[in-house]
Amino acid sequence: ATAKARTYNITLLPGDGIGPEVVSVAKDVLDAAGSLNGITFNFEEMPVGGNALDLTGVPLPDETLSNAKKSDAVLLGAIGGYKWDNNEKHLKPETGLLQLRAGLGVFANLRPATVFPQLVDSSTLKKDVAEGVDLMVVRELTGGIYFGKPRGFDQDENGDEIGFNTEVYAGYEIDRIAHVAFETARKRRGKLCSVDKANVLEASMLWRKRVTKIASDYPDVELSHMYVDNAAMQLIRDPKQFDTIVTNNIFGDILSDEASMITGSIGMLPSASLGELGPGLFEPIHGSAPDIAGQDKANPLATVLSAAMLLRYGLGEEDAAKMIENAVLETLNKGFRTGDIFSSGMKLVGCEEMGEQVLRSIDSQK
Ligand code: ATP
Ligand code: MG
Repeated sequence: ATAKARTYNITLLPGDGIGPEVVSVAKDVLDAAGSLNGITFNFEEMPVGGNALDLTGVPLPDETLSNAKKSDAVLLGAIGGYKWDNNEKHLKPETGLLQLRAGLGVFANLRPATVFPQLVDSSTLKKDVAEGVDLMVVRELTGGIYFGKPRGFDQDENGDEIGFNTEVYAGYEIDRIAHVAFETARKRRGKLCSVDKANVLEASMLWRKRVTKIASDYPDVELSHMYVDNAAMQLIRDPKQFDTIVTNNIFGDILSDEASMITGSIGMLPSASLGELGPGLFEPIHGSAPDIAGQDKANPLATVLSAAMLLRYGLGEEDAAKMIENAVLETLNKGFRTGDIFSSGMKLVGCEEMGEQVLRSIDSQK
């Protein structure tokens, strides 16, 4: 640990519901892991989502976006809640998140599905299938059928109504997500599975061609291809065969939710959204959980693990990332559980106490 001192600016967007509780824990964890690795953080907290709506009338104030854009990384809690669900104005809190992603230009969404050995019983799969699952879905986030044109409603020649969408990918969009995926696989176990429907769809045929071409830049990564229908099946049959999966927007939307169910622990799942240049956005996959907000019941570990992804994929600080992940494992090993992951014989703790236990484990790695 003789590395040169480094300083990073982090924009914190606590958001709504349990967001502020879990982000507060993750901030302390970042500080602790940072100080043991020669890293100093400057944190700035900005409003986003429902609280920003109440404060400024918009879910993503200009100052929040400009602060985020000039930061080194952005850590977000969660957005939304009952209070704004029947918002008569068309600006919903969730719009803030879409604007933030667009503003930061993040086109790659990374979602790991890790079955922690201590929580294997939470899995929806049989124990021997779930045990040891540790995979990452890299989803293209800004292209494909959700954005492709033409789209809309029309009438066919018989006067019946039709709805239509278009799957469009440009070569550069595939190349850049492929680079992120190969880099990710390289930081993991060196295996990348590209998922497409190249037997039927032209956009997928181009996808497969471009990904295969990019592979020559990464001779250390083993590339395979799989059709999406088979991938959906294989994720349930034998998820351990996967390391890193890369796929388009719509397939990734579906497969990443499917993969998260393998773990069965929504309070444990982080995510990262990365662009070409500029800061990445790191957030838990769970929502604002208004049913438990303000009660010190939230599981902060998804956000703590998002902070670890921030270090690894946002700042290239592998040692500090590992330190946080090890601390989470040790805290689980010691039997500490928030309500969402509790089972008999374990120690039930609140959000703050869980955070303190993680800090204690980090300190013990000095
Ligand atoms: P979104 O806001 O993305 O639409 P949602 O409202 O469907 O999500 P969540 O807000 O994630 O769902 O909550 C779903 C359930 O999971 C709730 O009962 C909530 O209390 C629980 N939950 C979510 N995150 C956590 C967490 N970090 N700790 C404990 N329980 C959680
Ligand atoms: Mg919600």
